[in-house]
Amino acid sequence: MTIRDHLLSGGEGLQHKTSPNHGREFGAGLPDTIILHYTAGSSAESSVEHFMSPSAGASAHLVVGRNGGITQLVPFNVTAWHAGRSEYQGRVGFNQYSIGIEMDNAGPLEKTGGGYTAWFGRVYPESEAVKAVHRNEVQPAYWHCYPEKQISAVLDICILLVDHYGIKTILGHEEISPGRKRDPGPAFPLDKLRDRVLNRDRSLDTEPEPEYTRRSGVVTASSLNVRFAPNVAAPTVLPPLSQGTVLDVLREAQGWYEVAVAVRGWVKKDYVQV
Ligand SMILES: [Zn+2]
Repeated sequence: MTIRDHLLSGGEGLQHKTSPNHGREFGAGLPDTIILHYTAGSSAESSVEHFMSPSAGASAHLVVGRNGGITQLVPFNVTAWHAGRSEYQGRVGFNQYSIGIEMDNAGPLEKTGGGYTAWFGRVYPESEAVKAVHRNEVQPAYWHCYPEKQISAVLDICILLVDHYGIKTILGHEEISPGRKRDPGPAFPLDKLRDRVLNRDRSLDTEPEPEYTRRSGVVTASSLNVRFAPNVAAPTVLPPLSQGTVLDVLREAQGWYEVAVAVRGWVKKDYVQV
């Protein structure tokens, strides 16, 4: 799967629809955040229908089904109405900063005689209920589980978006609208996904670890940016290195060295003497 003209392309089970519930194009340098949601609905299809209706006044960019199937409703260069009233670390109104991903999930479940019941009345078996404490709450509650296929599709999308748009932050709706919103809830491995996507521990990647030949290098520029990817548009991963900094050169690609200092990142090879 890739991103072409701000649309996902080439994925299995991928479809494109058009929602009227969007704003204008993002401002310069945006989007830089992904917001994850659950639909609190009964199926991906019904949520897609809902987001396509003008009267809903809401839509995310994507809806991800429980089987990993993806529907894109709004292109990634345009703001979608998914976050509502929201605030985090001094920023307000996250629609203008973020790509919204909705995951088909019933949300909180109530333990009833016959199983676990969603707000819309469907009863789920025990195998689909997760007992957990929400990050904003103190008492455990029951939540609809997220299947592995769905989590893995969201992980793949997040990695694509980080690489394509230089996304720096992944947050749950529950973190930008605490008290008002509980999604994606504790059944979703948000902290793990965030760590895996943003800190990109290579040992967890599906691609095999490349062969490294460790060489020592010295920074020759007065100040040198270390970037997340071999690309001048990629975000930096730590404050610039100063001249004379010794680093390990791990490999070379497209005119860049991947290096290890305190963390791993990429520097322009012109500025490192090996
Ligand atoms: Zn939400």
